[in-house]
Amino acid sequence: MSKRDFYEVLGVAKDADEREIKKAYKRLAMKYHPDRNQGDAASEEKFKEVKEAYEVLTDGNLRARYDQYGHAGVDPSQGGGGHGGFGGGADFGDAFSDIFGDIFGGGQRGGGRRGPARGSDLRYTMELTLEEAVRGVSKEIKVPTLVHCEVCNGSGAHTGSSAQTCPTCHGAGQVQMRQGFFAVQQACPHCHGRGKIIKDPCRKCHGEGRYQKTKTLSVKIPAGVDTGDRIRLSGEGEAGEAGAGAGDLYVQVHVKEHEIFVRDGNNLYCEVPISFTAAALGGEIEVPTLDGRVKLKVTPETQTGKMFRMRGKGVKSVRSGQVGDLMCKVVIETPVKLNESQKELLRQLDESFSGAAAKTHKPKSEGFFEGVKRFFDDLTR
Ligand SMILES: [Zn+2]
Ligand SMILES: [Zn+2]
Repeated sequence: MSKRDFYEVLGVAKDADEREIKKAYKRLAMKYHPDRNQGDAASEEKFKEVKEAYEVLTDGNLRARYDQYGHAGVDPSQGGGGHGGFGGGADFGDAFSDIFGDIFGGGQRGGGRRGPARGSDLRYTMELTLEEAVRGVSKEIKVPTLVHCEVCNGSGAHTGSSAQTCPTCHGAGQVQMRQGFFAVQQACPHCHGRGKIIKDPCRKCHGEGRYQKTKTLSVKIPAGVDTGDRIRLSGEGEAGEAGAGAGDLYVQVHVKEHEIFVRDGNNLYCEVPISFTAAALGGEIEVPTLDGRVKLKVTPETQTGKMFRMRGKGVKSVRSGQVGDLMCKVVIETPVKLNESQKELLRQLDESFSGAAAKTHKPKSEGFFEGVKRFFDDLTR
C-alpha cells in the first residue's frame, strides 16, 4: 500500500511551522488514540500514520530528507534491516532506530557494517493526566528490552574463554568484494560483520553479549510537558551487540483529556455555567483552577460566551518557564423546571422589557430583528 503524504496526513500546509504541526498532531492523536477506539483496527492504523508523520515533520533533519526524497528518505522499510524495540502493542511500537537509522549516512544498514552494532533506540509512550503534566511527576515504567550481559560482560564468550579475532576479515567486520570494475565493501560472511568469532558462547546470552529482559526504570517528567513532548534517556535503550554502545530511550508524552480543562499551549480553557440573574446583576462566582477553587467577579450585564482571563492560572512552560492564563468562558444557564409562580415572575419581567423598553433592555435582539426585517424587505422588493 502506498503511503499518504505526511502533510496531508496531518492536514497542514507544506510550510507549516512546528507549532501548527504539533497542534494538528495533538488533535488527530486524541481522535485516533487506541484508548478511545478499542479494537478498531482502522483507527489504530490512522494513529500510527499520524504519529509517524508527526515524528518526521517535527525533526528538522528528517523533514528535510522527506521534503527532498519523499517517503524513501525516511521509511525504514526502504533502508532494510533493523529489528524493532518493544514489538506488539500499539503504544510500544516501532523502535526509533527505524526512523533515525542511517539510511543516507552510509552506516550500519548499508553494505558493509563495521564491528558490533550499537543498541536500538526505544520509544515508550507515557500517558499522563493533565495535573501530572502540569506539575511534573516521577513514574516507574517497565521496558522490555535487551540488556548488557553481566555474566560475560558483553563479550559473548563463556567464562574462561574469549572471543577470537575473525581470521577472514582480521577483525574489520567487512571484506572487499570485486564486482566488475568496482570494489565493494561487504559485511564479512564469516563473522557476520562482528569482527570476532566466539567458539565457546556464554550460556546466559548465547554469545550475543546481551539478552532479553524487562527492566524497570524511574522516569522523572518535568513540570509543564505536553502531548508530543519527548524525553530522552541516554543509554537506556537496547544494549549494543557484543559490548557496543547502548541505544537511547525516548519517552513520548501523551496527555489524557481532562474533564474540565482544555489546554492550548500554556493557557487553560474552561466553561463555567452561570445563572442569568448573576449574569444580569453581576456578582461573584466560583471557578475551578488546577490549584483549587477561586472567586471570579462577574461584571453586571455579562453576555453568554464572555471570556474572563485569570492571569497566571495556566500552565508553566517546560521550556521558557513562562506561565499561561486560565480562560473562563461563562455560559448562561436557562432556568429549568420552573413552577407557576416563577413562570409568572418571568412573564412579568418579560412584559417590562417589551414595547418601547425593548431598545433599552435588549438592544442586541432589537438590532438583530431589525436586520432580519430589512433583509426580507430587500428580498420582496
Ligand atoms: Zn553473556
Ligand atoms: Zn569476519
